[in-house]
Formats: sequence, structure tokens, C-alpha cells
Amino acid sequence: MRLLEEKLDDIASGHEVSLERRDLVDALESGPGVEGPLFRAASAVLERTSGPGVYLRGIVEVSNACQKNCFYCGLRRDNPGVARYTMNPQEVMEALAHGWRAGLRSFLLQSGELLGDDYIDEVCAILSECRSRWGDSVRMVLSMGELPPDVLDRLRDAGGGRYLLRIETSDRELYGRIHPRDGIHRWSARDACLRHLRSTGWQTGSGVLVGFPWQTASELAGDLEYLVDLDIDMCGMGPWIEHQGTPLNEVREQAPPRARRVTLTLRMIALLRILMPEINISATTALQTLDPRGLEKGLEAGANVFMPNLTPLKYRVNYNLYEGKTVVVDDLESMIREGKRRCESVRRLLLPDDPGDPLHYGRRRAAEGGKPGGAPPGDRIGGQG
Ligand code: SAM
Ligand code: SF4
Repeated sequence: MRLLEEKLDDIASGHEVSLERRDLVDALESGPGVEGPLFRAASAVLERTSGPGVYLRGIVEVSNACQKNCFYCGLRRDNPGVARYTMNPQEVMEALAHGWRAGLRSFLLQSGELLGDDYIDEVCAILSECRSRWGDSVRMVLSMGELPPDVLDRLRDAGGGRYLLRIETSDRELYGRIHPRDGIHRWSARDACLRHLRSTGWQTGSGVLVGFPWQTASELAGDLEYLVDLDIDMCGMGPWIEHQGTPLNEVREQAPPRARRVTLTLRMIALLRILMPEINISATTALQTLDPRGLEKGLEAGANVFMPNLTPLKYRVNYNLYEGKTVVVDDLESMIREGKRRCESVRRLLLPDDPGDPLHYGRRRAAEGGKPGGAPPGDRIGGQG
């Protein structure tokens, strides 16, 4: 077997080299010496494909109410310490309009998993309003958990185009250990939801939590293979972070130290960039929470999306997934200026005014006979991505 570092050097020089499961595990488990060749290979792959650009995606945390009870998440249903809120559509539109004026062209609406008709109607109304205001110039991304196929179809037809649903872990047994075994937290249902999204025109995003108790390097390598097999268009992967109001906090000493979780996350980003050169990968808030240089390090590992938070502060303080979640108080314009400077410090270029469609999606839609630009079935314009 060729040495991993030789393979990585070959990848950096532009050769076609495949990484096997053993290589992925080695890259995750090796000492710090592997990081130079690994990040160089990931950067070279990104440079040759998607280029140096970094896209902006503004997040609005629409609601912190959730019907689920994931063992790792501070918003879980049974955490009594959460002041629950749901923004009204007008507040959401104001936050989006603010982002639009600052040059953002892609927005992520995120919330707990809520199945009520009223909530879905409100999100549909927001999507329709965005479509009528900004037409085909905006990309609306949803991250609202597992929803039934007919609801996802409605959201898509109202103007949703991209959907993010992390599988959290590709290992069914491990999934069972970090979720209640109660019939509504089923790995197979999450996987089926992702496959529905993938086959019905959505730009499909997924990802995993990195560094939670019991997780092994081999399982993380399996996660990368799962994401490749699903053929995702976008990815958000971040380190697990403790939260006092969650069951997983009780076994926190079984997780790797925080610095190790950052290291593992960066290596996962770099490996995924090599495996999937044309997808979008975000430098997540969780990564930036555990490391003040999380944005720069994420970009150097191969990420190409930066996500300013547009949630009004009075709500943002209650969207506590984990301890220490960054609550930036800067105004949006200075946040973008600062983001630009930080991107340039690692020789990357922030691209405001660009919705940032991943090359991967255009190519797969063209192969499927759809519009390369991203129009979902139904061929409508606006809001999709
Ligand atoms: N409810 C939707 C869902 O679960 O897909 C979307 C919102 S949920 C808060 C978004 C992501 O937050 C989850 O997919 C999970 O990976 C991440 N998350 C939750 N708790 C976390 C924690 N303690 N540390 C890091 N990330 C966490
Ligand atoms: Fe709810 Fe999502 Fe948190 Fe799970 S991760 S408890 S689905 S908000």
C-alpha cells in the first residue's frame, strides 16, 4: 500500500488518486505531521475546481421549539431551561431584507422540527414573499428537520431550493446511542428523507457531528463514505459541544478533548473536499465556537461558505444548541467587512452578491436532464438553488 502522504502529495500535484477506507482512517488518526500534506491537497483540489471564492449564507434561527429529543442538543423537547420562541413572518422578512441590503444572496432558515400546519404555512408564505421580492437572484436554504415528503414538496414549490439535514452519524448503532429509541428518532427515516430530497430537485446538504462520546475514526471514515454515496451538494460538519441540559453531557469525559474535536473536524473537511471537490462546505459556527480561528482554519482545510447570523439578538440568545455558542454583537456590515479581511488573510476571496450554487449541483442536474442552474422539477424560477 502506498503511503498516505505520498498519495496526498500526488493529489496536490493534480493526479487522480483514490482514497480508500484505510487512508481515511489513517488521515484521521495520524499525528500532526499529516496535516500539512492533507490541507495542501484539499486546497489544491479546491483551487482547481471551485476556486478561491467564499460564499456568504445568512442564517435566521426562526424557532427554537422542537418535537424531538436528541441527546446532544440544547433545544431538545425535554430541556425545561429553554425560553421557547417562534419569530413571526414579518420579523423573518425584516432579518432577510437586512441581509439582502448588505449583499447576501443566500439565506438559511433553521429551526427545531415542527410539523404543525400553521408553521409550515408561515414558512411557505416567507418563501413566496422572497421569490416575489428577489426572483431568481436569491437561494433559500431550509434546515427544519425531517419532514414528510408532501410537506417538503410544498416547501419546494413555494420557493425553497436547498435543504440541509445532517445524518449526524452514518452508523445506525451509534445513532441509536445518541437519540431516544422511541420510534420518532430513526436513522432509516432520516436517511429516507435525505434520499427523497436528493431525488426531488433539492440541492441537498448533509453532514455529521464530530467528536462525540464513543465515536471512532472508523465510524467517521464511514461518514465520509456515506456522504459520497448520497452524492450530496453541500455539507455542514461541526464538532460536538457539550450542553448542560442534555443527556450526552453526562458522558462528556468519554469524548475527545475539545482541541481534538477541532482537529478531527478540520481533517474531515479536508478529506471531504478531496473526495467531493465541487460541493459547498461551510465553516460552521460550532467550529468557530471551539476555536477563535475556526473560520480561517476551516477555509484552509477546504471550506468555502461563511455564515453570518441574522437572527435578532433577543431571539439569538435563546437558540442555544451548545455551551458558548457564539453570539456576535457586531452589526452585519462590520461582520462582513471582518469576514472579508479574515478570508483574505488565508488568501481567499469573499464573494458577496453571489448566491454560490455548488458546481456539483449544476453538473448533476444537467446529467439528470434538469436545468444546470438549479431549477427544481416544475421549472419555476426564483428561490431555488
Ligand atoms: N432541527 C433540525 C435538525 O435537527 O436537522 C435543524 C436544527 S438543528 C439545531 C441543526 C444541527 O445542530 C443538528 O443537525 C446538529 O448536528 C447540530 N447540533 C445540535 N446540538 C449540537 C451540539 N451540542 N453540538 C454541536 N452541534 C449540535
Ligand atoms: Fe430538535 Fe434538531 Fe435539536 Fe434534534 S438537533 S433536538 S431535531 S433542534
